[in-house]
Amino acid sequence: MNLQQIIRPNILALAPYSCARDEFKGEASVYVDANENPYNNGINRYPDPRQLKVKELLAPIKGVAVEQIFLGNGSDEAIDLVYRIFCRPGVDNVVAPAPTYGMYQVCAEVNDVEYRAVPLQAETFALDVEALAAQVDANTKVIWVCSPNNPSGNAYSQEQLISIVQRFPDQIVVVDEAYIDFSSVPSMTSQLAKFDNLIILQTFSKAWGCAAMRLGIAMASAEIITYFNNVKYPYNVNELTQNQAIKVLSDVTKMRRHVEEILSQREILRELLLTLPCVKKIYPSDANFLLVKVTRHKVQLCQNCLRITVGTPEENAELYEAMKAL
Ligand SMILES: *Cc1c(COP(=O)(O)O)cnc(C)c1O
Repeated sequence: MNLQQIIRPNILALAPYSCARDEFKGEASVYVDANENPYNNGINRYPDPRQLKVKELLAPIKGVAVEQIFLGNGSDEAIDLVYRIFCRPGVDNVVAPAPTYGMYQVCAEVNDVEYRAVPLQAETFALDVEALAAQVDANTKVIWVCSPNNPSGNAYSQEQLISIVQRFPDQIVVVDEAYIDFSSVPSMTSQLAKFDNLIILQTFSKAWGCAAMRLGIAMASAEIITYFNNVKYPYNVNELTQNQAIKVLSDVTKMRRHVEEILSQREILRELLLTLPCVKKIYPSDANFLLVKVTRHKVQLCQNCLRITVGTPEENAELYEAMKAL
């Protein structure tokens, strides 16, 4: 793809802010270049604007290069940056299946970008790629695909995701893998070397158990990541978050153990809920939640459905008792 053609002209031309910690790298005994307070309380210095230590731990876990990683204040920052980098307000549009994660549309509206929602197939929540394609035109910059999808819980096959990335070489395809660690479908990170129009989002908020830490991940070609770095706030990930991330990343086994526990609880909870008269149906899940068809509704295409997060064994038992009383 010709990246120059899809990036907003003002972003292509942008001379990024150069902060003190960009201009000096390494260890010094005295720092007088950033107007910081010299008295050490653990957070008196500006944090590393590129979060190198976090990325060096994360890169081998994800099988990508450090230069292919952007870290943000939650995935939500990465979602917003996608609009700010690629989409001209009032001109460009994006295409996304529905229902899906609400932030794609909220950020589109904030950035004055047209959001084209394409319904998933009823009941199966399968992607209708032809219907997606019918909405794509010369001003379509981004196609959003959340897999496993929130709120439906299903993952799309890797073959299907690859075929979408291949079919739309003039669009950025963002695959949001917030729930990938709970899924039996492998991550698309293995495809990053092959496709320069692919951006993959992941997060510390779900499997890693750190929603309060606010750390989101975008992975793409090193060239795309350069634009994320140019547009982001210089110190977008604070020191406390970076330190906590370093701690969390040093114990991958603990994360995997929790994922295993949640997956086994998911199936126990499924069986339990299916015994309740108010439960009509539970959809297949590749995530840490179940979409349960009951007797009330809100989200389109998810009529009469509740999205229920899998909790601890005790929490799941309490939920079951409460639903039994309905
Ligand atoms: C929970 C979730 C996220 C996580 O967002 P953060 O800002 O990283 O907490 C991203 N995408 C989807 C689809 C989600 O459900």
